[in-house]
Amino acid sequence: MSHWIVWLSVFILGIIIGSFLTVCVHRIPEGRSIVAPRSACPHCQSQISWYDNVPLLSFLWLKGLCRFCAEAIPPRYPIIELINGMGYLLVVWRFGVTWPTVVYAGLFSVFWLVTWIDWDHKIIPDVITLPGIVVGFLCAAFLLPTGWLNSLLGILVGGGILLGLAWISPYVFGKEGMGGGDIKFLAMVGAFLGWQQALITLMIASVVGAVVGIGLLVLKVMQKGQYIPFGPYLALGAFIALLWGTELWQWYFRGLV
Ligand SMILES: [Zn+2]
Repeated sequence: MSHWIVWLSVFILGIIIGSFLTVCVHRIPEGRSIVAPRSACPHCQSQISWYDNVPLLSFLWLKGLCRFCAEAIPPRYPIIELINGMGYLLVVWRFGVTWPTVVYAGLFSVFWLVTWIDWDHKIIPDVITLPGIVVGFLCAAFLLPTGWLNSLLGILVGGGILLGLAWISPYVFGKEGMGGGDIKFLAMVGAFLGWQQALITLMIASVVGAVVGIGLLVLKVMQKGQYIPFGPYLALGAFIALLWGTELWQWYFRGLV
């Protein structure tokens, strides 16, 4: 498993899928097809040839500029690809070459995709989360250590707890706390990983979100009333729960349960 060819293959697969994610980030919120037409430069509309569409490398040899109009290619493209490759390495390092690893790597890409879509558009599309809940249940029942019962509880706890918060927060905080997209996202996380991981996801997302939010207010990067969508925090929390959820749960509730 420590053979470098395995690691290299995993990384290359990760950046290829990452390249596909850059397409999905733009097209899914607009309801466009993610397979056709070929990618084009958003500035001059020139179609991008396969040799200019190689993950990471094309950005380097084009020096970050469109071949036709020399407009800068946003650095988010290589960043999305690179992080997706690194995420796959992390999953393989944690779980080895197994069926759960395949599912978890795919799930990481979904988290990473949701992070960017929610950042850009402040939505988490149903077209990702609703099929995700069903696929998560099936994977949990047949491929993952989660099991069907824990998956079902995960859907109920993940969806239910945020639904409850969304329902009471207008009374408590005077505004809507959670979007429906967040609720369905956490239900999807619960479907794949189980109810404990859904709770860990929410705890990590809340803590990191509060720390970052207060930090940005103090540093005056952000004005009061501005906000960062919750999806990226949930996605981060979910990935940590995916990697170390069981250990975190045992550590946190040591002696209590
Ligand atoms: Zn161009």
